[in-house]
Amino acid sequence: MPHVDFKPVADGIYCVETGLYRPGLASCYVIRAEDRLAFIDTGTANTVPALLQVVDALGLTPADVEYVIPTHVHLDHAGGAGALMAACPRAKLIVHPKGAAHMIDPAKLTAGATAVYGEAAFARDFGALTPVAPERVIAADDGQLFDLAGRSLMFIDTPGHANHHGCIYDAASGGVFSGDTFGISYRELDTESGPWLFAPTTPVAFDPDAWQLSLDRIMALAPRAVFLTHYCRIDEPARLVDDLRRSIRDLADIAKREEASADAGRQQRLEQAITRHLIDDARRHGCRLEEARIRELLAVDLALNAQGLEVWLRRRARDRS
Ligand SMILES: [Zn+2]
Repeated sequence: MPHVDFKPVADGIYCVETGLYRPGLASCYVIRAEDRLAFIDTGTANTVPALLQVVDALGLTPADVEYVIPTHVHLDHAGGAGALMAACPRAKLIVHPKGAAHMIDPAKLTAGATAVYGEAAFARDFGALTPVAPERVIAADDGQLFDLAGRSLMFIDTPGHANHHGCIYDAASGGVFSGDTFGISYRELDTESGPWLFAPTTPVAFDPDAWQLSLDRIMALAPRAVFLTHYCRIDEPARLVDDLRRSIRDLADIAKREEASADAGRQQRLEQAITRHLIDDARRHGCRLEEARIRELLAVDLALNAQGLEVWLRRRARDRS
């Protein structure tokens, strides 16, 4: 059996390495209450064997999995949801109403991801998407509560990173499973000032104003911890949230400065500007890694952020015309 990298991060909560690109880039979570399990995010289709090994390591079986809850339908979060559902006969899939149709028929997700990543990289990194039977899918309402053997999980509608994004509030731990709504924070970039956060402005529905309101919603719950997909648990969200709010504003401002310029080459210029900005920001936070190492850690995000901001500028132009 290959080694599965997972660890407890709170009472009944385990953080699992998904294996996407490099260790430490993308995680997902298992919540245990009595003999019932819920997965929050799933990694990709390639992650699913590891997730089933975690179930086994906890002394349970796939029939004990009650919920599979992708925070949104981007493939680093939901790519494995269909295959995991196929392996867990009793599980229900809980998803944002705007994501439900894509879990039932993943053709558009496949097409969208192929456009973003290219066909070969998509097949290698994400595998194939498995459809979920419609009767197993619950389109969650904002504020809806789900019972996991007495443990209460609340779905919160949190657009901004994506318009199909929800977070889960777990009252027992006082923690929020934030998907990408509380930003990205790689442990390699921690400093004596603590975690360094930035905003993923991934295609295709970045909405900075909606995102700030979603952060208001999360902070109104006064969470003790935030469980990030990228990467793992961070504490003191009230101290850190303003860093993320500023990152959302800064990245939107970088895009707006390119708003009037020609489309040709704009995405490359955005990527250069984002790279400079994020490296300087990490430095201000006290990061002393070599610049090449920071670029390497952020490589996937720099490209996706530039693509997402370019898509956002085009949407703004369409909305104005
Ligand atoms: Zn993500």
